[in-house]
Amino acid sequence: MGPPGAGKGTVAMKIVQIFSIPHISTGEILRSVIKDKTNLGKKVENIVNEGKLVSDDLMIELIKEKIDKDCQNGLVLDGFPRTKTQAKALDAILKVKGIIYLDVSDDTVIKRISGRRTSPKTGKIYNIYFDKPKVEGKCDDTGCDLIQRKDDKLETIEKRLKAFHSNMDAVLAYYQKTGLLKKIDGEKNQEHVKEAVFKALNDLKN
Ligand code: AMP
Repeated sequence: MGPPGAGKGTVAMKIVQIFSIPHISTGEILRSVIKDKTNLGKKVENIVNEGKLVSDDLMIELIKEKIDKDCQNGLVLDGFPRTKTQAKALDAILKVKGIIYLDVSDDTVIKRISGRRTSPKTGKIYNIYFDKPKVEGKCDDTGCDLIQRKDDKLETIEKRLKAFHSNMDAVLAYYQKTGLLKKIDGEKNQEHVKEAVFKALNDLKN
C-alpha cells in the first residue's frame, strides 16, 4: 500500500518476478476495463479519471472474482485495500500474510507522478526526470510509445492524494493491530526500497 506514486507497481513487479505469483493491481484492472469499454469500465471511467475512489462494493466484487480465479498460491495485491471496509472484506476472502506500506510525502508524489510514463506493452514505468528511457518517449524493451495515464495529470493528482489520505489512516490503524504492517521509507532510491521491502518480507515470514 502507499499513496499514488509511492512505487507500489515497481516494487510489486520485483516481488512477483522472484516469487512467481500473480500481481493484482486494482488500478491496472480498472484502467484496462476502461480502455476496453466494458460495462464496468463505463461505470468507473469518470470516477477514476477524476481521481476519486471507486465504490467499495464494486471493488470487493472485482477483487473477489480475481482472487477466486487466479490466485490459489498467493498473490501480491497492489492498490487494494484502500478503505477499512475493503480491508475487512479482504480478511473474509483470504489470510493476509503481510502489508508493506511505502511511505512518501505529498511533495514527492507530485514530482514523481507528473513525470511518470508507462509502457503499454510491458507495464514498465519510467520517469522523464529520474528514470528516463534510452530514447525519449519510447519503451526500452519494445520500442513502443510510452503513455501518460490520464489520472497522472497534475490537476488530478491532488484529488487522488485527498482521496487516499481520507481513508488510509483508518486502514493503517486496522492493520497496525495485526503486527503484519511494515512501513518502508519510499523516498529512498529504488534499489534501497527494494532491499528494505525484501527484508520486511523475510521478517514477516519468520
Ligand atoms: P492506482 O493505480 O492504484 O493509483 O489506482 C488508480 C485509480 O483507480 C485510483 O485513483 C482510484 O480511482 C481507482 N482505484 C484503484 N484501486 C482502488 C481501490 N482499492 N478502491 C477504490 N478505487 C480504486
